Amino acid sequence: MFGVTILGNNSAVPAHDRHPTAQAVTIAGEVLLLDCGEGTQMQIKNYHVKRSRITRIFISHLHGDHYFGLIGLISSMALINRTTPLHLYGPAPLKELIDLQLSVSDSILPYELIFHPLEGPAVLVQTAKYRIETFPVEHKIPCYGFLIRENHAPRKIDPDLTRQYEVPQAYFEKLQWGADYQTKDGRLLKNEMLTVPGRKNLSYAYCADTLFTDSFLPFIKQVDVLYHESTYLDDFAEQAKNRFHSTAKQAAMIAERAEVGRLLLGHFSSKFKGVQPFEAEARAVFPYTDLSQEGVTYLV
Ligand SMILES: [Zn+2]
Repeated sequence: MFGVTILGNNSAVPAHDRHPTAQAVTIAGEVLLLDCGEGTQMQIKNYHVKRSRITRIFISHLHGDHYFGLIGLISSMALINRTTPLHLYGPAPLKELIDLQLSVSDSILPYELIFHPLEGPAVLVQTAKYRIETFPVEHKIPCYGFLIRENHAPRKIDPDLTRQYEVPQAYFEKLQWGADYQTKDGRLLKNEMLTVPGRKNLSYAYCADTLFTDSFLPFIKQVDVLYHESTYLDDFAEQAKNRFHSTAKQAAMIAERAEVGRLLLGHFSSKFKGVQPFEAEARAVFPYTDLSQEGVTYLV
């Protein structure tokens, strides 16, 4: 199980006590930051996200409401003498932006900032505990979604049986990944005799700013939780299309087509003071929909 804490759920201009986009994903003891709109460091403090545990930051695209908080956060990490490397993933020009801001202020970071430019669909990270992929979505400028998936071994050891057959501990990992075991006296024990099915690998897909489109459906198929932007209500579908955004109804249609477990809505336009109608509109199409609320952690 892992969690997604919403730090900002508004689009463009901060309004109605809502902040620009940022989310903190806690997985395997690490914090992954998805986008970093203005004010993200304050939100991190407000909602007790462990800044020192942030290992990777992912920026979906270079509209300011998704990254204007980044230089502040990077600088604060320097001021508190962070020494662990920080991985930053984003569209290629982000590196120039950061380099320029650091150089004009004559700042040298006490930690290594490792930049990874985003391009096309790709696997960005593969650790023993999780895997992260990126895929292009359709926005006015290049924009990327992210898919985070747990990486548990598919099988679990049965301790009584492995003790009974004297399987050495060093062999456990192979068993967890499906290997059979040969005993000292040459007997072959099928994997199913020594293990039981493991936990399901849960997944979270984050589709940043995007037009209503099926183009990235294969990447988000059957994820457990899908975050899809819903900048507008469906009365503004024309405006959504012109500005490369989606409506709540369209987000729900994507969730339904992708057969996801649950849909989270966000990136609400400042035009709307209350956002409850977004939930009602989406639920009429896809009942397992929730509004993303700042400060709330959603378990995947
Ligand atoms: Zn945008």
